[in-house]
Amino acid sequence: MAVKRPDRLSDYGLNSERLLMREFGPKEDEPAKFETELGDLENRLMLSTIEKAVAWAQGSSIWPDTFGLACCAIEMMSIVSSRYDVARFGAEVFRNSPRQADLLIVSGRLSHKMAAPFRQIYDQMLEPKWVIAMGACASSGGMFNNYAVLQSVDKVVPVDIYIPGCPPRPEAVLEGIVRLQEKIKAGVPPAYEIRKTGEG
Ligand code: SF4
Repeated sequence: MAVKRPDRLSDYGLNSERLLMREFGPKEDEPAKFETELGDLENRLMLSTIEKAVAWAQGSSIWPDTFGLACCAIEMMSIVSSRYDVARFGAEVFRNSPRQADLLIVSGRLSHKMAAPFRQIYDQMLEPKWVIAMGACASSGGMFNNYAVLQSVDKVVPVDIYIPGCPPRPEAVLEGIVRLQEKIKAGVPPAYEIRKTGEG
C-alpha cells in the first residue's frame, strides 16, 4: 500500500516564521514562499530526503540570541570578531529579539531573580530552538554555590549542549556550535522534545 508522504513543511513540525516567511503574503492554509520555492526539491535532487535538506539548512543558519549574563559573555561576544569569525559556520547573525533567534547561548550565572525573565525569553523563541549552556556557572552554578544563583540553567530550560570552562575560550564556544550543528544535521531532536527541564 502506498504511503502518503507529507507535502507541507508544517507536516514535518516546521512552523518557524523565518522559514515560512508569512509576512510575504501567504495565508495560513496556503503554501508559503519558501515552500513554493522548495517545490519537489526532494525528487529533483534524488539524493536526499527533505528532512535532511531542511536539517542541513537549519544547522547551517543558526541565529543566536544576544543574551549575556556575566563574564562569559565577553568570550561569547568575541566569536564574531575577525580572529574567531563564527561567520564561517553560519552563526554570526546575533539577534536582539528572541522571536528572530533559534539559539540561546546562556553565558554566565543565572540568578533566581532572573530565572523567570530568562524563561520568558526562551518561550518567546520560535521552534525549533536550541540552548547552549556556556561555562561552569550556566552549566552547574560554578563557584557560586549559594542561595542566589541557580545551580544550572537546565532547571528552567532544556539544554542541548554544555560547554565547560571558566570562562570557556571562544574556540570552545565555536566547538559547541559545531557540535550542535552536527546534532541538528544528524536529525537529533532539540532538547525540549526529548527531556524535561531539571533532567540535565
Ligand atoms: S563560568 Fe567563570 S567566566 Fe563564566 S560567568 Fe561563571 S565565573 Fe564568569
